[in-house]
Amino acid sequence: MAKKYCYLFTEGNAGMRELLGGKGANLAEMTNIGLPVPQGFTITTEACTQYYEDGRKINDGIMAEIMTYVEKMEQINGKKFGDLKNPLLVSVRSGARASMPGMMDTILNLGLNDDVVAAMIAGNPDPKFERFVYDSYRRFIQMFSDVVMEVGKKYFEQLIDAMKEKKGVKFDVELTAADLKELAKQFKAEYKSKIGADFPSDPKVQLYEAIRAVFRSWDNPRANVYRRDNDIPYSWGTAVNVMPMVFGNLNNNSGTGVAFTRDPATGEKKLMGEFLVNAQGEDVVAGVRTPMPIAQMAEQFPEAYADFVKVCDLLENHYRDMQDMEFTVENGKLYMLQCRNGKRTAQAALKIACDLVDEGMIDEKKAVLMIDPRNLDTLLHPQFDAKALKAANAIGKGLGASPGAACGQIVFNADDAVAWKAAGKKVVLVRLETSPEDITGMKAAQGILTVRGGMTSHAAVVARGMGTCCVSGCGDIVMDEENKKFTLAGKTFKEGDYISIDGSTGNIYDGIIPTVDASISGYFGRLMEWADKYRKLQVRTNADTPRDAKKARELGAEGIGLCRTEHMFFDPARITAFREMICADTVAEREAALAKILPMQQADFEALYEALEGCPVTIRFLDPPLHEFVPTEENEIAALAKAQGKSVETIKGIIQGLHESNPMMGHRGCRLTVTYPEIAVMQTKAVIRAAINVQKAHADWNVKPEIMIPLVGELKEFKYVKDIVVATADAEIKAAGAKIAYEVGTMIEIPRAALTADEIAKEAEFFCFGTNDLTQMTFGFSRDDAGKFLGAYYDTKIYENDPFAKLDQIGVGKLMDMAVKMGKSVRPDMHCGICGEHGGDPTSVEFCHKIGLTYVSCSPFRVPIARLAAAQAALKD
Ligand code: ADP
Ligand code: MG
Ligand code: MG
Repeated sequence: MAKKYCYLFTEGNAGMRELLGGKGANLAEMTNIGLPVPQGFTITTEACTQYYEDGRKINDGIMAEIMTYVEKMEQINGKKFGDLKNPLLVSVRSGARASMPGMMDTILNLGLNDDVVAAMIAGNPDPKFERFVYDSYRRFIQMFSDVVMEVGKKYFEQLIDAMKEKKGVKFDVELTAADLKELAKQFKAEYKSKIGADFPSDPKVQLYEAIRAVFRSWDNPRANVYRRDNDIPYSWGTAVNVMPMVFGNLNNNSGTGVAFTRDPATGEKKLMGEFLVNAQGEDVVAGVRTPMPIAQMAEQFPEAYADFVKVCDLLENHYRDMQDMEFTVENGKLYMLQCRNGKRTAQAALKIACDLVDEGMIDEKKAVLMIDPRNLDTLLHPQFDAKALKAANAIGKGLGASPGAACGQIVFNADDAVAWKAAGKKVVLVRLETSPEDITGMKAAQGILTVRGGMTSHAAVVARGMGTCCVSGCGDIVMDEENKKFTLAGKTFKEGDYISIDGSTGNIYDGIIPTVDASISGYFGRLMEWADKYRKLQVRTNADTPRDAKKARELGAEGIGLCRTEHMFFDPARITAFREMICADTVAEREAALAKILPMQQADFEALYEALEGCPVTIRFLDPPLHEFVPTEENEIAALAKAQGKSVETIKGIIQGLHESNPMMGHRGCRLTVTYPEIAVMQTKAVIRAAINVQKAHADWNVKPEIMIPLVGELKEFKYVKDIVVATADAEIKAAGAKIAYEVGTMIEIPRAALTADEIAKEAEFFCFGTNDLTQMTFGFSRDDAGKFLGAYYDTKIYENDPFAKLDQIGVGKLMDMAVKMGKSVRPDMHCGICGEHGGDPTSVEFCHKIGLTYVSCSPFRVPIARLAAAQAALKD
C-alpha cells in the first residue's frame, strides 16, 4: 500500500509523535479526549523527509493527498478555502518529534486575499469586524512574506511603527480599520518591491508555498544549532499541521494565551500563564503589549476561564506531567491549539517529579525517566554566596525567568557576547528583548537580562531551555542599545561594566557578587537516590587532587576512574625536579631527579586514597610528551642549566631535541616507560607505598591500587611495562611485609589496542577506554585542530555533532564494543570503564551501558548527570 502522508486529527493519537510530530500527535490526542480543537490535519514527518529526498520539492503524489485532506477539512468545518461566501482560513504550523520552541515557522490567517477580504466585510456590517479582517490580513501578509519569502520582519515592523507614530498611538490595538487597511496595502507594496512579483492571491498557491516553507524551516540555521545542542537528529524532519483559524483578534471578547499547569521556574503546583485580549498568535510572547496574568481571565472571561481550568486538570491527569498549553478565546469560547509536556528549569523538573510521585500520579521509575540529565548541569553551577547576597543591595528587579546566578561584564548584542566569550570574558547579555537570532549570544552569556517580556517571552523560554540564568522584563531599565548603555537606579551602565543577576528572585545587582559551589539535597537528593537504585553502571570521576576527589564523592562518585599523574608535576615546587629528570644524560642523573619527586608523588597518592575512603582509584602513569614540561623562558632555562651543572646551550639542545612533528602521536604514554623505565619504577613505588600506608591507617578499607598504562597498542609493549611495574610493586610489598593486592591494566585508546584486545587482555587486568585519544586516532584528526573544519562538516551535514563531545557510536563505539567482547572472552571478570570526556555525556553513557561497561568516569560536576543517565539507560533496557 502506498504510504499515507496525511492524517486528520481524528486519525492520530499521542503515540504517533514520530510520524505526526509532537504538536500534531497532541492535537490528535486532545481531539480524542474531547477537547475543543479546531479540526484540521497533519502532514507527516515522512513527507518532510521525502521533500528533502526529492530535492526540496513536494512531489505531485503528496500534493494531491494534501489537497484531498483540504477538502475533508472543508467538509468537516463547513467552510471552503478561497470561498467568497464562507471562506476557510487556516494556520500552517511546524511541529517536530521533539519540541523545538520558536525554532521553526508558522503562518496564520492563510487563505486571505483582496476578494476574500472584501467578501468577508460585505457579509458583516459591524465596523469592528472590518477592523478584525484587516488586522488578520496585514498579519498574514507579514508572516507569509517573512516565513515563505524571507523578506524580513523588520521592514513590516518599521511600517507598523511609522503608522503608529503617524496616528499618535502606542499600541497596535489602537489602530483603526482604515489604518490596518492602509497597512495591508503598504505591506503588499513592500512585498512587491522586495520580491519583484505580486503577493500571491490564490489560497492554494499560498498553502503550497507555506507548507514548503515549513519543511524548509527544518533546515534553518537556528534550528540546526538547537538540534545540535539538544541531540535531535537532522533525519527526523518536521511535520506540518494545517488547521482552521480561530480568532483571538476578533474583538475584545476574544484573546490568546499561553499557560503552564505548574510553575516552570519553581515547579510549584499552580496555574501560571498569560493572556492577551484582542490578540493573535505570537503577540503574547513577542511582548507587543503587556499581557494579563492568567488568573485575571477569571473576571473578564469567566466561562472560558472555568473551561480552561478543567482542561488543565484533564490534561495533567491524562499525560501525568506538567502541561504547557496554547489556547485562544474567540467570542468568549475556548479553543485549545497546543499542549505538550512543558519545558522547565532543573529545579522545577526535580520538584515536579517528586510531587507527581507523592501525588500518586507516577512511580519512581517514571520520575527518574522524566528528568533530562543535561538539565542538571545548571544545578551544579555555582550559586551566589548566601552571605554576600544578603549584604548586597539590589538595584533593580525583573522576573526570575530562569534560575541560577550570573555575574559578568555587560554586553548589548549577541555578536559581542560571542566575541567577548571567545576572548575569555564572562558576560551578561542585556537587551530590550531577545529574538531567535540572539541564540548564539545567549549561549555565550553567563546570564541574560531583558527590559521587556514576561515569563513566557522568548528570552525566558530559551534561557530555561539552555539552563542559563535569566531575568526578564525589568521595565525600570532605560535602554540605549545603540550607544551600548542603560540606566538603572540612577546609574549609567556601559559595555564592560560588571553586573550580577539572580534568575530565581529576579534581582539585579551592581558589580560582582561572589559565588559558591552547588550541592545535592532536597528534591535533587531524593531523585538521585532513586536513580542509584536502578542504575547498573558505576560512576567514577576523573580527579587529580583530593579537593576534586572530595567534591566528586559528595556528588556521588564511587571511585576515581582516571588520575592523571602528570598534572601533579606542573606544581612550581615540583616542575624543577621534573625538568632535571627530563634533561638528565645518564640513568643515574635521571634516578636522582626521580628520587626527589617520589616522596611528593607518594604524598599526593596518599591524600587521594584518604579522600576516596577505600573506593577504587585508578592511577594512570605519565602520559604526555615531555616537551610539555620544559621551560620556554630564558631565565628558567638558565636556572635549569645551573641546577644541572650544564651549559645553557646544552639545555637548549636537549629541549630542541624533544621537538616532534606530531607530538600527540609521538614519544608519550607507555613509550616513555619503554625508553625510561626508571619513571615507571618511581611511579610504582609511589603508588604502592601510598597504598600500604593508607591501608595501615584504615584497616577497614580495602585499598587496592589500579595502575593504568596509557597508549598501549601491542601486547608485548604492555607486557614489557607491566613486568617493570610488577617487579617493583612486589619488591615494595615484600620489603614492607605488607599484604596488598593491586591490578595493572591499560587504557584502550589506540585503535590497534581495540583490534587486538583479546591479545592484550592476556596481560591487562582491566581496560579503560580513553575515548578522547581513541576518537582522535579513529577519525584521524586532532582535537585541537578539528575546530577549524568541523563547522563546515556541520553545515554540509556530514557530521551532526562534535565526536569529541558526543561519542561516535558507529565507528569508535564499534571498536569499544569489540574490545569489551574480545577482552572478556579471555578474562571474563575484568572491569572495563571509560574515562574520556564522553563519560559525562548522557547519550554516550547510555551507549556504555549497552556495551556492558562496568563504570563511566567523568569530571566531578558531571557525576550526577552520569548517575541519572546510567539509571535511565538501565530503565529503558
Ligand atoms: P510554535 O511552535 O512556535 O509555538 P505554533 O504553531 O504553536 O508555533 O503557532 C504559534 C501560535 O500561533 C500559537 O500559539 C497560536 O497562538 C497561534 N495559532 C496557531 N494556529 C492557530 C489557529 N488555527 N488559530 C488561532 N491561532 C493559531
Ligand atoms: Mg506553539
Ligand atoms: Mg589518552
